[in-house]
Amino acid sequence: MKKKSNRPSFIPTVPAASLWLGLLIVFSVTAILFSGRAEAATKKKIKFASHVSSTAKASARAAGATSKSKIAIVNVVSYTNVYSKRSTSSKIKGRLYKGTGVYVIKTKGAFSYVSSGSVKGWVKKKLLLTGTKGKKLMGKMSPKVAKVTATDLNVRSDNSASSDIVVNLKKGEKVIVTGVSGDWAKVRLTDDETGYIYRKYANIKSGLATGVSLAQENAMEQRVDDQEEENESSSSRVTDSGADEKSGSSSVPSGNWKSLGTFQMTAYCPCSKCSSYGYQTATGVRATAKHTIAVDRNVIPLGSKIRIAGSDIIYVAEDTGVKGRTIDIFFENHSETIEFGRRSGEIFILED
Ligand SMILES: [Zn+2]
Repeated sequence: MKKKSNRPSFIPTVPAASLWLGLLIVFSVTAILFSGRAEAATKKKIKFASHVSSTAKASARAAGATSKSKIAIVNVVSYTNVYSKRSTSSKIKGRLYKGTGVYVIKTKGAFSYVSSGSVKGWVKKKLLLTGTKGKKLMGKMSPKVAKVTATDLNVRSDNSASSDIVVNLKKGEKVIVTGVSGDWAKVRLTDDETGYIYRKYANIKSGLATGVSLAQENAMEQRVDDQEEENESSSSRVTDSGADEKSGSSSVPSGNWKSLGTFQMTAYCPCSKCSSYGYQTATGVRATAKHTIAVDRNVIPLGSKIRIAGSDIIYVAEDTGVKGRTIDIFFENHSETIEFGRRSGEIFILED
């Protein structure tokens, strides 16, 4: 039996420096990560911090982070509010979704003052995980992502240049890295398909989500509201009848939509029943309802805009995890995924 490594999987092996740097850019702060090994890396990080843009460093200082700030991971079902004072009845400054990384600047009573992205304020201390538990959740919520830097890059079946080519990735495409060994990184293509890429041709970074300010949150909600209004007015909701809806009165969004024929359609949400990745998608962006779909990248290229017959929602292929002629639609709640169930229908792709 293979000996279980005592190194948490998210802690980079080689080259530690570039991964720490990635994390550093995400947070724009030179803070100490958890403890132990992380502290040993502090010196390296400070050294590498000189490569980080001065803007990033300035924003880190502005955020109030010091070398003594600790990173914690938000552990909630969906999200928690960030308050202006140590009271849940004080003004809400923003939201922290599950798995968001925060810098804990100070703790007073049941609240901690944190900084994450553009959000600063007080959150309930008990919702923040640090230490081993934090590491565990962090490993789950912040998979390392490889962005292809070469014009194109083969994903191979094994860590050898003579092994079979599984798929070819184009410059800028992203895949989740599940392990690194020597010159090769093991990557996840779908839930049950992995491959290997030559590390030299990709930029591997680790990233945690950051806080969402009230303004950003309102902008997002506005988008959703607009979409809902449109749907209601055009009676174009996709229903159980799926493909039959085609003849409905929905207005087709402008653009050159090419039919891809009939696809199976399934639904997923951030819950643990659906996925172990929460809001994290294969492309590294945060999954959004009425926007994100998971595809088989060999069938629909990542980044494609997709529309379902009878609906005017424009989805973006941002995630992987299905095989063949299936799209998996992201929903916010599990109950919605059950309601959607499994359907089949004609889908369209937006051509340039
Ligand atoms: Zn679910």
